[in-house]
Amino acid sequence: MLSALQHYLFCPRQCALIHVEGVWSENFLTAAGRQLHERVDRRGGATRKDVHLATALRLVSRRFGLTGVADMVEFHRQEIPQDGSGQTVAARLPGRGGFWRPFPVEYKRGAPKSHRADEVQLCAQALCLEEMLGVSIGAGALFYGETRRRTDVAFDSELRGLTEDVAGKVHALVRAGLTPSPVLTKGCRACSLVDVCRPGDVDGRDSASRWIKNQIDEACR
Ligand code: SF4
Repeated sequence: MLSALQHYLFCPRQCALIHVEGVWSENFLTAAGRQLHERVDRRGGATRKDVHLATALRLVSRRFGLTGVADMVEFHRQEIPQDGSGQTVAARLPGRGGFWRPFPVEYKRGAPKSHRADEVQLCAQALCLEEMLGVSIGAGALFYGETRRRTDVAFDSELRGLTEDVAGKVHALVRAGLTPSPVLTKGCRACSLVDVCRPGDVDGRDSASRWIKNQIDEACR
């Protein structure tokens, strides 16, 4: 799943709990994110002048083994499929004349973050669209609910490399079927799985014995 890349960058254990063990739990942060997504989660489309907006668009990349749904993809109409440098950047859309250049837009709760998880998820969407449409995509955008602003993201070679690397790591994690030990970080406070994961009880160093001792201590209180 495209979302697994973002989960992995946030915390590999969170990624394994969700995508290997099938655990899910919601907190106010994930609920707020879900609300924000409800605006764009119904599959559909609308065309205004030379821009077609496709919402909840299904995506797939066989090359990178990715699948998921794009919140919104803007398709900008142009007369020819190439850009100034001769690269194919626009494709035909069924029932529409001309060529349409895709521009993915992902909706996020909160504000821009210091890590690159949101950008990687957006770039993964672009990789899927490139493969599906046979085009090259130079940029997309992230829309943040807290700032209510769009931030443009360039799909440069560094971001593409990071995205491909994380996709490979997620595949290895799922194939191995092993959930990494928890590492207590600041991010744990915002993690919806903190009650399932219990990183304070089991921190990966003396995990089993310490966890059992804590359970017995709690039961004896
Ligand atoms: S609570 Fe912390 S260690 Fe556990 S899954 Fe969440 S972020 Fe990872």
